[in-house]
Amino acid sequence: MGRILSYIMFGFFVCTAIMSVSVLHSKEKLNINNILFALVCIGSSIWSFCFGFIWIQESPTVAYYWRCAGMVGTFMYMICAILVIARWCGRDMWWVKIIELFPFSAVILYPFLMQKKNTVYHMSSPIGMTYLFTPSIWNTLYDIYCVGCAAGLFILSGFLVKNGERKWERVTGIRLIFCECVIVAGMLLDTIMPMFGFSAFPGSTLSQFLGVLLVYRVYLFVNKNQVKLENVSEFVYYSVKLPMLIYDYNKHLKIANKSAVDFLKLSAYDYQDVMLSKLFEVDEEKISYGGNSKKVDARCRANNAHCRLDINRIGDDFGEIMGYIVIIDDLTDKIRTIEELEAARRSADDANKAKSAFLAQMSHEIRTPLNTVLGMNEMISRETESDQIANYSFYIKSAGETLLGIINDILDLSKLEAGKTNIITEDYNLKFIVNDIINLISLKIKEKGLRFKLKMSKDIPMFLHGDALRIKQIIINIMNNAVKYTQQGSITLGIDWEKIDKENIQLIFSIRDTGRGIKKEDIDRIFSPFERAEEQKNHLIEGNGLGLSITKKLVSLMNGKVNVNSVFGEGSVFEVQIPQKIVHDKNGDNTVSLNMKEKGKAYHIKAPEAHVLVVDDVETNRIVVKELLRITHINVELAESGERCLELMSKKRYDIVFLDHMMPEMDGIETLRHIKAMKNSLNEDTPVIVMTANAVTGAKRAYLSEGFDDYISKPIGYIELENIIKKYIDVK
Ligand code: ADP
Repeated sequence: MGRILSYIMFGFFVCTAIMSVSVLHSKEKLNINNILFALVCIGSSIWSFCFGFIWIQESPTVAYYWRCAGMVGTFMYMICAILVIARWCGRDMWWVKIIELFPFSAVILYPFLMQKKNTVYHMSSPIGMTYLFTPSIWNTLYDIYCVGCAAGLFILSGFLVKNGERKWERVTGIRLIFCECVIVAGMLLDTIMPMFGFSAFPGSTLSQFLGVLLVYRVYLFVNKNQVKLENVSEFVYYSVKLPMLIYDYNKHLKIANKSAVDFLKLSAYDYQDVMLSKLFEVDEEKISYGGNSKKVDARCRANNAHCRLDINRIGDDFGEIMGYIVIIDDLTDKIRTIEELEAARRSADDANKAKSAFLAQMSHEIRTPLNTVLGMNEMISRETESDQIANYSFYIKSAGETLLGIINDILDLSKLEAGKTNIITEDYNLKFIVNDIINLISLKIKEKGLRFKLKMSKDIPMFLHGDALRIKQIIINIMNNAVKYTQQGSITLGIDWEKIDKENIQLIFSIRDTGRGIKKEDIDRIFSPFERAEEQKNHLIEGNGLGLSITKKLVSLMNGKVNVNSVFGEGSVFEVQIPQKIVHDKNGDNTVSLNMKEKGKAYHIKAPEAHVLVVDDVETNRIVVKELLRITHINVELAESGERCLELMSKKRYDIVFLDHMMPEMDGIETLRHIKAMKNSLNEDTPVIVMTANAVTGAKRAYLSEGFDDYISKPIGYIELENIIKKYIDVK
């Protein structure tokens, strides 16, 4: 019988040893609970192994030593079992901590309990070698220890049954109580019975194994009810809405989740081994599974949907390919949305283009009659003897010019907003820009009785590369404002620079006025289109609120910035910084001629020998030029079309040809091409000047690049007209 008991115990030893290895070797990350449970199994296996030797011994001394060793396993089992179950209960309560600490008293008890005198070993039939406890305080304490541990386990399990928040916790409690009953029943046979003179039968060794098995089941049960990857992966796999396919390394389909079965219209039981190319329009060979994951766009054969396949490689423990997880993303809706957005963007673009075309057209159309209005008005002012009529004519002129300003600004802004304004850079001499600005603005300054100061840094590099035309436009805008909003005092234009690097400088313009200033709260607003500060007072001052917003957009197109410092009631400083390239840093002559023109009696050129041809399809436009030039005694001939122009030019030499752009049939550009192509022409060197209502900023540059010699915009001012003629013919 002793042998049978031993073999059974060795069997237990093997089982518990395997259990401990499996717990420690599980895929899950090791945590304290796993380790404790593995220690319970190890304790159990030591216990079974050592006690297994007792029953087959013949020497009481050897049996004694085996029991000493086995008891280490017993105590280890007790301590760890209580710790595991206490952790399942939660360890916040003080009494749980006491129950946890209690089994550690074995550390003190063990050396005294294991004194030889406390147990008597003898052979007993039919068991074989067994033992009896001699009456001693240590044996009594050991019994108390066993009862205490059992009570602790019952209390913890009872607590779980009563207070477990989740059902699985309460079920765990019940299962634990059951397994504790088994252990206690076994303990009676070798812990309590030897106290009463009965030889020990290894009941607790047998029951502890059952206990471990039961606790192991509880352990698996507890684990199954925790949020862990292995518990939820199946759930995730089957419940997620994204269709998922799992292929083996031969690219044969092995698993498809429910969403995939539905989406691909697979038969739930018959999808095994289907290749990816059977389900999607993909070339199996072309899908290189080189990296760990790959995205492939393909059309689904079952429902024609546009899909993105996210193919992820899964490796085995040896780093070789185990298979592939393919996650299917149905892009059909997204693609439809993108297409709709694209269509919306296209139609917005078209609308924007239509708006720009409409504005360009409108500006052109308004300019044409305005040309007549202003041209004829000029004739009225020249020919009238009456002061009253001259006064009316002055108002027509000023209103016409305002209207022109508005058209220019709206056109500029709409081009900027449509992103159609290009910055065209060229080499230029800063001196000429400053000259032009001053010449344009000086008359207005003088008329208003303001003083003008120019503060130009001495060492500033004069030969620069950038968009001179836009820079001029920006500074003139700001200076015009300074004049408009200043009633007395002065306007100062400062021009300074800072070095950025060897090739670039920051050009800094500052325009200071002693005008009305801008309130702090208005400063951000004034850069938005159609926003004007002090609307009430402003209505007397001409303006449309577009100038600064155009200015700001132009400055940022050139990677520059505008700052305003203003004290309300005292004046403002606008500072514009624009980076520019240096062409060469020779300082050059930076003396700027302050050509403050007086508004005196109009001076007109005289050129009775000159012959000028004016080509325009609109009769009034032709008449305006003819009338404006009457005072100059120039011989003006008129042509109403490109064809007529060519005809006249083939017969006669002209000193200048003014050519309209927008004409029906042959337009100005085409006519120019024909003129240039004329062989042995009388007009080989005749300058051809475009005379057009297309006056957007930059138009001049465009016409010059077409081959025109010069540009004049409609409405035509007589000063510009005479100035341009002066450039090409000798006048008196
Ligand atoms: P506007 O055609 O009205 O002058 P802007 O865009 O050029 O349009 O200017 C916007 C507003 O900024 C103006 O209406 C004016 O209130 C204010 N402003 C601009 N420059 C000055 C200045 N130098 N002094 C005082 N106010 C100014």
